[in-house]
Amino acid sequence: MPSPISHLLASLNRSHITHSDIQPLFKALQNDNQVQIHHAGNSFEGRSIQRITYGSGPIVILAWTQMHGNEATATASVFDMLDILLQQKDERLSDARALFTLHIVPMLNPDGAQRCIRHNAQAIDINRDAMAKQTLEGNVLMNLVDSLKPNIAFNLHDQSPYYQCGTNGHPSTIAFLAPAFDLDKTVDSNRHLAMALIGRMTEAITPHIPNCVARYDDTFSPRSFGDRIAGKGAATILIESGACYDDPNRQVARRMNVVAMLEAMCLLKEQAEGSISAECLNEYQQAYWSIPENTSETLSSLVIRGLHFVGAHSYQAGVSIKQTARYSNQFFIDAVGDLGVQAGLNEYDANELTYDSGNVHTLNAPTIISNESYKQWLKQGVIQFQGEVHNLINQSDYQVLLNQPIPADPHALILQQPAYFLMRRGDSVVAAVINGALIELQ
Ligand SMILES: [Zn+2]
Repeated sequence: MPSPISHLLASLNRSHITHSDIQPLFKALQNDNQVQIHHAGNSFEGRSIQRITYGSGPIVILAWTQMHGNEATATASVFDMLDILLQQKDERLSDARALFTLHIVPMLNPDGAQRCIRHNAQAIDINRDAMAKQTLEGNVLMNLVDSLKPNIAFNLHDQSPYYQCGTNGHPSTIAFLAPAFDLDKTVDSNRHLAMALIGRMTEAITPHIPNCVARYDDTFSPRSFGDRIAGKGAATILIESGACYDDPNRQVARRMNVVAMLEAMCLLKEQAEGSISAECLNEYQQAYWSIPENTSETLSSLVIRGLHFVGAHSYQAGVSIKQTARYSNQFFIDAVGDLGVQAGLNEYDANELTYDSGNVHTLNAPTIISNESYKQWLKQGVIQFQGEVHNLINQSDYQVLLNQPIPADPHALILQQPAYFLMRRGDSVVAAVINGALIELQ
């Protein structure tokens, strides 16, 4: 039988989630006797921070999401997980209510979520406030930790799309960390358990996303909550949701968070029942160290390989294109040349193609641009238009360039500039990059 929130989960398939987006889920849960909803506190601007509690067992789990307002992926995941538990869909956890007390705070920073920014309404990064404690939201979390005394803490975030798993060429769709709680990175029993849980979670999600799981850097960060909470006796696990191929709303990471957290609960159940050996736990803990490191800025939105630049001095180069920020709609030229280990969420082989900076067409009369007509303009070598703004009627899906500066050198790209250019095979334009989007024209 569906749970009271089953029919609402599809509404969370979006690039961002705000406080008002999740209120229908809280409302729907109010009449379910398997959960209690508590008011945990208010944000700086007075939005309610709510906690959902499921079960009454001895193993206490606390999971919180969206401490950074623009990191919403796991907010959907915790509702998905609750839906599965309420329906007893995972047979391995049919007795979860008796074994676990699961507390979920699905949005710790509703003011940041409202603005789609990392920080809270005080412009403070809550995850650097664990010592100073000058934010209401950070205090809500610390009070929950102190009063609920969780055995397990899930600290759920989103990361930049440009992390790679080691240098394996694949995006870091999920990155895990068992945070250190001191400068020596001591591994006590709780951190050992967190590592073992991560080893097990990695085993569970890897078949779904081969090569797309990474391990986050464990430098001790005393101002961060995960590191503080790890020092308070909870086996603490950071999960960073990241990019995957053709997945703008991060629905792959959304699902993998759920698979991972349910798997962790299974291991905890086996541990409580005494059905998992110490050797097996050690093996999972060792597996943690085998996960490739999360490598920042080694992935791009688009990588073009082997493009020829023809002029007085001809050369061949790779081109890396990135987005200025996750929620911006602007893409720029990030790097040109030997790109080394840089990989792309999208890759294009241009070994037989030549760079063309494109021509300008002057608009003297109102001109409608459709998807089809725009491709014709591109095939004719036109990369941008000049003229009166009202003469360009853009009905296409593309960001058409109008009245932009013309590159000084038509034979070279310029770093940090908007990513617009053409690629030719002989006389024919066969592909274009339009604001970072690759358009194939043949
Ligand atoms: Zn974060």
